[in-house]
Amino acid sequence: MGTVVISVDAELGWGFHDLEDLPDRIDNARQGWRDLLDILTQYDLPATWGIVGHLMLSECDGNHADHPLGPSWFRRERGVWADRPDVRFGNGLVEAVQQARPDHEIASHSFSHVDFGAPGTTDETVRAELRAAEDAAEALGVDLRSFIFPRNHVGHRRELADAGFDCYRGVVPRPAGRRRKLVSATAGSPTPKLVTPAVDEYGLVNIPASLHLFSFQGMTRALVQPVFGDPIVSHVERGLDAAAERDGIFHVWLHPSSIGSDRDRQRITEVCRRIHDRRDELDVLTMGEVADQVDRRRTSRQQTGETA
Ligand SMILES: [Zn+2]
Repeated sequence: MGTVVISVDAELGWGFHDLEDLPDRIDNARQGWRDLLDILTQYDLPATWGIVGHLMLSECDGNHADHPLGPSWFRRERGVWADRPDVRFGNGLVEAVQQARPDHEIASHSFSHVDFGAPGTTDETVRAELRAAEDAAEALGVDLRSFIFPRNHVGHRRELADAGFDCYRGVVPRPAGRRRKLVSATAGSPTPKLVTPAVDEYGLVNIPASLHLFSFQGMTRALVQPVFGDPIVSHVERGLDAAAERDGIFHVWLHPSSIGSDRDRQRITEVCRRIHDRRDELDVLTMGEVADQVDRRRTSRQQTGETA
């Protein structure tokens, strides 16, 4: 039986608060979140929602004086976002994920989207981010065990393990250049990447991503789509084929804020429909469930005296 994992980077404004220029897609973020949840419900697919911890608060002073990065890191909240609670707080969206069926996993995407891979990010900052995220989640009755790194920059895994996390989403190797993208969207496309979860040196299960569902945007997508159909949907189809044939894991991910147009909604609907149609040959698991499977295999190997 093959496996599909769907993971979501849910951040509203927090994915961008430290950027000079704010992208328009911030304004899609709430509707995109609702749309994605509706589509997952429609096709009965559980996902792992990596949610920025600040979104689990119902209010804050905008200073966060006890955060190691200090009030300057949160200056946008007090400035242009002072009257934008819609980008600073979930305001019902996290609860919508909690109440949705099928059951989703709520994972952490840090507290305020600090880049864990940046050279200036200290252990102290990471510990504070994880603690704040856990406190906010606990207030909603959520126990966090899976982690999605902001900007996919893996770092400070020891702190992650110390904070009690079980697993994280590892990185997708980047294809080089636009020409490669064009080629891969049409003829001679590479085989979709199946992934193998692996236990790292801190005991965390690394569940790498296979495919970013909005990795193929802009001009190239506009050129290719009318002729060949949505290249992401056909890539997903081949990924599902491969996962079913080889009992592998195909792990797709996205930001809800990428869902901004009818075409985007159609892409996600088509992807989810295709996964749904193959449920007899494919399990759809959360990251936490994949980590449990790895742990069970690890335990049974230890019991039979094999070395891992
Ligand atoms: Zn705040």
